[in-house]
Amino acid sequence: MATRITLIPGDGIGPEVTSAARLVAEATGVSFEWEVVEAGAKAIASSGTPLPPEVLDSIRKNRLALKGPITTPIGSGFRSVNVAIRQELDLFASVRPARAIAGEGTRFPETDLIVVREATEGLYSGVEHWVDRDHTAAETVNIVTRKASDRIIRFAFEWARREHRRRVTAVHKANIMKTTGGLFQTAFRALAAQYPQMASDERLIDNMCMQLAKKPGEYDLLVTTNLFGDVLSDLCAGLAGGLGVAPGALYGEQIAVFEPVHGSAPKYAGQDRADPVAEILCVELLLRHLGKTEAADRVFRAVWETIAEKKVVTYDLALPGYTQRPVPPSSCSAMAREIARKVPLVDLDRPLPRPVAADGSVGMDRNLME
Ligand code: NAD
Repeated sequence: MATRITLIPGDGIGPEVTSAARLVAEATGVSFEWEVVEAGAKAIASSGTPLPPEVLDSIRKNRLALKGPITTPIGSGFRSVNVAIRQELDLFASVRPARAIAGEGTRFPETDLIVVREATEGLYSGVEHWVDRDHTAAETVNIVTRKASDRIIRFAFEWARREHRRRVTAVHKANIMKTTGGLFQTAFRALAAQYPQMASDERLIDNMCMQLAKKPGEYDLLVTTNLFGDVLSDLCAGLAGGLGVAPGALYGEQIAVFEPVHGSAPKYAGQDRADPVAEILCVELLLRHLGKTEAADRVFRAVWETIAEKKVVTYDLALPGYTQRPVPPSSCSAMAREIARKVPLVDLDRPLPRPVAADGSVGMDRNLME
């Protein structure tokens, strides 16, 4: 039976990258029935709101969505569609893997991080106001609850256990934000004690950024509050090769929504230039969520081999990377076709090739990193 899934093409480069992802999803042989709904700037033109009720209804019904990036025009009076979707559907866990693929687009081929971010409260709760009539002072409320902290931290430990990760690191700023940060820290310590088999530690957010910039290979799974998670996941995406290759997923108790870390990149809209890999790797995460492990492995392997070959890659991966080999850039659709062509052909028993740098040094063996 076909899996019914809501598809939100989104704005800017969204329609191009979601078409690419759909092509690759269909190449796996897993049967999908796509229910296409519009949200974002495009929906304002057609429905007068960036989040028409049928979007949430469709996701609630299907419990699954593949989403392109969305633009919420600043100053339009509408609240962020992305924040609204997370809050309305109680998608409390944002999971963003940052994996260097074939060593391209990064100076850190050993990067293999996961950022698990609380996605419903913190500084993104939407509670803010002007303090005075002249708008010379403003306040944003940082809401942190024990319930939401426990839920995200338990989710992180369970994810780490299931995915055979080595260590869970809590990231906070409890030394300065003693109540909100302190509450998150207390929740982490209590839950870490329930997972004695899993290594765990803590970093202050500022130190974490410095450590990641120096030695990302030393870290594994990071769990944190909303704003820190937003910032850290872009940092980790940059370490792993850029926004073009960074997928993400949002999980609630019953619903999962898959979306790339990147935004709608309006300057590339309609040019068939954007990197489709982030959205395609969302399909890999979706397949894993559905328990279609072999199909998910095929998608990841096809992406890896396409990037490693460096024959059909978009502009961001065509630059001199770890292999120091610039190539002419291909289009978004050409790269998607190449990945889709490889999906049924890849040999899953062959170890992933290790990236070799121009100086002859060899990148991290991903097969040994699990
Ligand atoms: P962005 O991620 O859209 O783009 C930043 C830069 O990253 C681009 O100019 C481009 O150089 C590069 N980039 C991003 N995606 C790429 C891809 N697939 N391939 C190649 N290069 C890529 O961030 P922004 O410019 O800050 O935001 C643009 C719009 O997107 C804003 O309206 C913002 O609100 C929205 N946004 C939406 C989401 C979402 O829907 N989840 C997330 C972030 C930003």
